[in-house]
Amino acid sequence: MLIVKKFGGSSVRDAERIKNVADRVIRDYNEGHDIVVVLSAMGDTTDNYIKLAHELNERPSKREMDMLMTTGEQISVALLAMAIQAKRVPAVSLNAFQVGMETTSDFMHARLKRIQTQRLKNELENRKVVIVTGFQGVNRNDDFTTLGRGGSDTTAVALASVLHADLCEIYTDVDGIYTADPRVVPNAKKLDEITYDEMLELASLGAKVLHNRSVEMAKKYGVPLVVRSSLVDAEGTVVKEDVPVEKMLIKGVTCDKNVAKLAVIGLKNEPGVAFKLFNILARYDVNVDIILQSIGRNETKDISFTVAKEYLDDAIDALNDVNAGISFEKIHYDVDVAKVSIVGAGMMTHAGVAAKMFEALYNANVNINMISTSEIKITVLVHADDANRTVKAIHDMFE
Ligand code: ADP
Ligand code: ASP
Ligand code: MG
Repeated sequence: MLIVKKFGGSSVRDAERIKNVADRVIRDYNEGHDIVVVLSAMGDTTDNYIKLAHELNERPSKREMDMLMTTGEQISVALLAMAIQAKRVPAVSLNAFQVGMETTSDFMHARLKRIQTQRLKNELENRKVVIVTGFQGVNRNDDFTTLGRGGSDTTAVALASVLHADLCEIYTDVDGIYTADPRVVPNAKKLDEITYDEMLELASLGAKVLHNRSVEMAKKYGVPLVVRSSLVDAEGTVVKEDVPVEKMLIKGVTCDKNVAKLAVIGLKNEPGVAFKLFNILARYDVNVDIILQSIGRNETKDISFTVAKEYLDDAIDALNDVNAGISFEKIHYDVDVAKVSIVGAGMMTHAGVAAKMFEALYNANVNINMISTSEIKITVLVHADDANRTVKAIHDMFE
């Protein structure tokens, strides 16, 4: 079998943990499997680099951020190769450049375009454990890029897909996917399996246990995916294609604190305003999430929307761009907000789910800022201080 194994930052945070990873890898290698390992940077390395960068520059260039952040993964792969070689098993570490992982040029949010497989295949044929840097790519100008926070999962799934691996295992610090973040809701339950679609929603709505693009890719290319613990031997959670279920199940409650809310106050109440506003945001590459329009004072209207925190400055720049031709009174923004969502297939066809969720919030005395629904999820925007309480209240209600 060809197995791609990805280990997250906490799984390689120090020498002892790296040795533990080496042992696990060697165990499967000795059973005759071909092994490709994808690693994250050690522990909090990436967070620390980001802090350091902001001490030197409030808005560091995205190219330099990627140049900086990609070093983290290069350290961990080299160290794991050494740990495996120490046990007399052949191993080689490779970065994105050496593999040939071409991405778009969107620094900090690059997308994989092509992956060369020749070097990887050669090394595997020589019976080496191949250890690849997660999170990184290279653009057409040979600059390093990164795939967005948590992107090593996506590297792993992409490699599993191009190499037609038999299995892609994501090893992390929890033993599977739970009905809510087990660190926030201690009585959350581990799921044996979850569909790609449900996991995609959970991941996109803040459950960082898997990078959302990794799930998107696993679904598209049918990559068999398992999430399990790097520390204990347990079954884990299988992410797979739809399994027919009769009754609707709430698969999980999730929370995303990486949110900022913007309100554009006093826009003209006439056709074309929303178009101009979202058009300029798109031109500034700002991804907009929940949108709410309301009637303002004196024949005006207000438009509120949410973005990921890192887009806040760009969003404000975009709205103030004179070329956009939008006139408004003022912009409000709030970074102390969080999105809390419930995810489950068939949400729309089951009456009462929304009512039950809002009842849970009412009982917990949580004020709702914005609401958004879809076929598979209901999301509310609340104050950041209320976030964990909200997750617990909703989880208890649906238990
Ligand atoms: P890694 O460093 O291995 O990539 P992450 O920190 O990115 O690990 O993801 C694992 C974390 O995801 C867990 O420690 C857990 O707190 C969090 N998490 C959030 N939602 C869930 C969920 N529904 N199930 C399991 N873990 C979750
Ligand atoms: N090291 C990167 C991060 O912390 C990528 C990853 O861990 O997946 O976001
Ligand atoms: Mg992660």
